[in-house]
Amino acid sequence: KLSVRLATVAKYVPKGARMADIGSDHAYLPCYLVKNAEIRFAVAGEVAAGPYQSAERNVLSEGLSEIISVRLGDGLDVIQSGEVDCVTIAGMGGALITNILERGKDKLGSVNRLILQPNISAISIRKWFLDNNWELTSEEIIEEDGKIYEVLVGEKGVPDRSYKSDLETGLLLGPFLVKKQDEIFIKKWTAEKINWQRIYAALEGAAETVETIEKKQEISEKIKLVEEALKNEE
Ligand code: SAM
Repeated sequence: KLSVRLATVAKYVPKGARMADIGSDHAYLPCYLVKNAEIRFAVAGEVAAGPYQSAERNVLSEGLSEIISVRLGDGLDVIQSGEVDCVTIAGMGGALITNILERGKDKLGSVNRLILQPNISAISIRKWFLDNNWELTSEEIIEEDGKIYEVLVGEKGVPDRSYKSDLETGLLLGPFLVKKQDEIFIKKWTAEKINWQRIYAALEGAAETVETIEKKQEISEKIKLVEEALKNEE
């Protein structure tokens, strides 16, 4: 059975898609999609030999080798231009995900949907979307095994209006998630806030330098953003 995390990613892959799952590890996601979302074709990309082999083994044992092509390589290098219309990248940091997208930009011509699940730093992805004319169309926040994950969906070809109300808050917390304020969202940002307050207090105790002053300023701005965003609901 697929994890809730990957099932949330899967939800956004359109029926009939030709997709690439980059950093596919066991290829669980493409296997699931072939069986449950009637995707037409998938590439399971992996940069590391071990995960690549386990992806190959799984695809073979599921009898899906004709639909899922398992490929060894870095990021979007494994796909050819025009081959896929949807890309998923899950289970990595946001900065690594945007790095992969940035280096593989020339492969995104035929891609009209990106479904990304950063373990940390979703802000990197929202910034990348904004800088590269991808519209953030959906966001989800979920909790599984005591960890909180965000799933971000982007679509190409439309100017981004989702941040209209407040850019800074939208980038950090997510415009859809701020609006929705579900329980997990509040839990995540309350915990982040407490963590920042702890760091701030420690900095207050340290010798004052340009760095500590700047860091305190940065942290207090983030605390303020989060407090504002959470207050709306109380
Ligand atoms: N996507 C799966 C998931 O969400 O369950 C696996 C996540 S696993 C933590 C991250 C995988 O990404 C690893 O198997 C790693 O080898 C692979 N990876 C990391 N950087 C990569 C890159 N630049 N290109 C392709 N795969 C990469």
